[in-house]
Amino acid sequence: MPPWSLESLPGRVVFGAGVARTALAGELERLGATRVLVVTTDRERARVEVLLAPAADRIAGTFTAVRQHVPVSTAQAARELAARVGADAVLAVGGGSSIGTAKAIALTTGLPIVAVPTTYAGSEMTPVWGLTEDGRKTTGRDQRVLPRTVLYDPELTVSLPAAVSAASGLNALAHAVEAFWAPGANPVTAVLAAEAIRALAAGLPGVVADGTDRPARTDALYGAYLAGSAFAVAGSGLHHKICHVLGGRYNLPHAETHAVVLPHVLAFNAPAVPAAAARIAAALHAGTGNSGTGTGAKADDGTGTSAATAVAELAGRLGAPTSLAALGLSTADIDGAVEEILPAVPPTNPRPVHRSDLVQLLTAALAGRPDTLSTVEAPS
Ligand code: NAD
Repeated sequence: MPPWSLESLPGRVVFGAGVARTALAGELERLGATRVLVVTTDRERARVEVLLAPAADRIAGTFTAVRQHVPVSTAQAARELAARVGADAVLAVGGGSSIGTAKAIALTTGLPIVAVPTTYAGSEMTPVWGLTEDGRKTTGRDQRVLPRTVLYDPELTVSLPAAVSAASGLNALAHAVEAFWAPGANPVTAVLAAEAIRALAAGLPGVVADGTDRPARTDALYGAYLAGSAFAVAGSGLHHKICHVLGGRYNLPHAETHAVVLPHVLAFNAPAVPAAAARIAAALHAGTGNSGTGTGAKADDGTGTSAATAVAELAGRLGAPTSLAALGLSTADIDGAVEEILPAVPPTNPRPVHRSDLVQLLTAALAGRPDTLSTVEAPS
């Protein structure tokens, strides 16, 4: 085992059906929060008010003008409201966009965040913030934005539509897969990531087949939590750098972009990390209960393609988008995207990444044909 280091992140997690209703007031009290700014979307507002009833006397205001990728203007408006109501804490209820808006407030004010995630995006476990201005997304790490308390309540995810659940779940899967090679990867993140992959593979097909399947919802949310925890420590690898550029520069939808790109990055990197690829494949197969006899159930075959194929097959089963073209990218965009991705590629990526590799990878993801997975060549 090569030397490694680990900086564990603080934070309290409360997990279970109904906890958003039963434990929220107690968790706010635990933090001494008496003037809470709630951050959520217009769509979620009515539902959130029901959840907040036991803590109504602690709520000082509500911000609902949440936008994906947190435009700087949105961050400013949210910070102004926090100041105006004299907030002493921020409560984010929603997906990564709501939690990202709460982080923007915490970044400049240091206010503690309580997060109640309703998707599988995983932002609640990370000290990573993101802001977008003029089509460019800037991200950074700051402990102030790491939520102090996270309440995971599978009941809140029951309303998440199948298509959003699939894409968001594959976003979580991407956190876990990259935790095997991202710059801060270590044996502990690999353990978290393998269990995350198993739980996501176990839960997501049931979630998409029947959104009210509580055990499946619980598995998927547990997997998303573990994936977010692994990603928080391991950091962003090649896959996240690619998706970050595609989201910021071309405004591609976050979770769906992750869903499309992941098998291609996995196919590219896997030959350089065969042991990790075998672990990813095994975790996927353990989750889906695949016995090892079908196409997707092959043990890693040494070329690293089987882990990628298994991810692509899972994405197919979930009905997730498979091509960047379907998300709005065009062939003419590839050169510009490559220019922006290339300098951001982590030097620790398991294999060198050349301009031609990125062109090939994005061209394959643009077309989205499963057979293009095998066109990404193994390192010589
Ligand atoms: P999102 O928060 O935009 O939510 C997607 C859609 O689902 C929205 O329309 C929302 O209203 C709806 N929704 C959410 N929960 C629902 C529910 N339970 N029922 C019905 N509808 C529901 O998307 P997301 O994928 O959760 O988050 C994406 C954002 O999070 C991006 O900006 C991304 O960059 C960021 N993110 C950040 C990190 C980090 O570590 N900082 C990690 C992952 C994602």
